[in-house]
Amino acid sequence: MRILVVEDDPDLNRQLQTALADAGYAVDVALDGEEGHFLGSSEPYDVVVLDIGLPKMDGLRVLEDWRRNGRRFPVLLLTARDRWSDKVQGFDAGADDYVPKPFHMEEVLARLRALVRRAAGHATSEILCGPVTLDTRTGRVSVDGNPVKLTSHEYRLLSYLMHHQGRVVSRTELVEHLYDQDFDRDSNTVEVFVGRIRKKLGVDMIQTVRGLGYIAAPPGTET
Ligand code: CA
Repeated sequence: MRILVVEDDPDLNRQLQTALADAGYAVDVALDGEEGHFLGSSEPYDVVVLDIGLPKMDGLRVLEDWRRNGRRFPVLLLTARDRWSDKVQGFDAGADDYVPKPFHMEEVLARLRALVRRAAGHATSEILCGPVTLDTRTGRVSVDGNPVKLTSHEYRLLSYLMHHQGRVVSRTELVEHLYDQDFDRDSNTVEVFVGRIRKKLGVDMIQTVRGLGYIAAPPGTET
C-alpha cells in the first residue's frame, strides 16, 4: 500500500514517515500544501494523511480540489484544532476520518488500516482468501492456520493483491502501489516477488492472467 503524508512540522513528518514505513507502507512525504496537492493529483495513493494547517495551500483547499478532480483515495485529516466546526468542514470537504493532535501513533495506524480495507470493501482486519489469512493488524500471514514468514516487500505485494482479490491487478498498478516515488521501479521484480510468495504459501492463490497481470483468488477458482 502506498501512502502520502502532507505535514509541515518536520519532526512530525519524519515520525509519521518512519512509523508508516515500519508498518509496511511505501511512503511519500510533502512539507507544504502545494507539494502535497501536486503529489496527490499525480500519484495513485491508497490512503493520505493530510494536515489542515499547511503553508502555501491550506489542507482543506487541497482536499476540496482533489475531490473536485475525482481523486477518491481515503483521506485522514490531522489538525491541531479540535473544534466541532473544523471537523464538519473537514468531512464536508471530503475527508474520511479525523485525528486531533497530539495523537498516539498507534491510533493513526489503526485508523489508516481501517480506511484502506474499507476502501477495498473489507469490513474486518483479517482478510481471507481460501486457506490464506492476512492479518492487517499484526502484519502476519498464515495458510490453514500455519504462519508463513514473508519479507516486507512480499507482504506488501500479497496485501495489495488480497485487498483487491477477485480483480485483475496489472504489474504497472502493483509497481505504482508498492514503491514510493524515489524507488528504482522495475516491473520484473514483481514477477520475482510473486514467485517467492507462491513458493512460501504453497497454495495456488495468485494466478497469472496472461498479458494482463495477477489475480488473487481461492485455489480452484476459475478466472
Ligand atoms: Ca501544520
